[in-house]
Amino acid sequence: MIRINCPYCGLRGHDEFSYIGDATKQRPASPADATAAEWHDFVYIRDNPRGPHQEIWQHIQGCRAFVRVLRNTLTHEVLATGLPQDDLLAGASGPAKTEEAKTGEAS
Ligand SMILES: [Zn+2]
Repeated sequence: MIRINCPYCGLRGHDEFSYIGDATKQRPASPADATAAEWHDFVYIRDNPRGPHQEIWQHIQGCRAFVRVLRNTLTHEVLATGLPQDDLLAGASGPAKTEEAKTGEAS
C-alpha cells in the first residue's frame, strides 16, 4: 500500500486519498488570450513520466486538504510530500516531508 504523509494528519494509507492530477500542469498565463490549442493542452494532454513525478492528492477521508506528493511512478515509492505550493524537486519542503514516507514502514 502506498503511504502518504498528510501535512495535517500524518502518515496514512493511500486509500484515504483521491488522486487529483499532475501537479506540474500550469494554467495559461493569460486565460482570456489563450488559444484553443493552449487550453486543449492544459485540460487534456498529460505526460506519462517514468520515475519521480509531482502529483496532487486530496485527503478525502481525512482533513480534505490537498497534498503535493513526489512519487516514483515506476515503484510507487512516495519520495516526499508537502503543501500544494511546495516544489518538492527543488528541495523546498513543507512541514510533512519525512523519511517515513520513503519507506512506508512507519504508522
Ligand atoms: Zn489530512
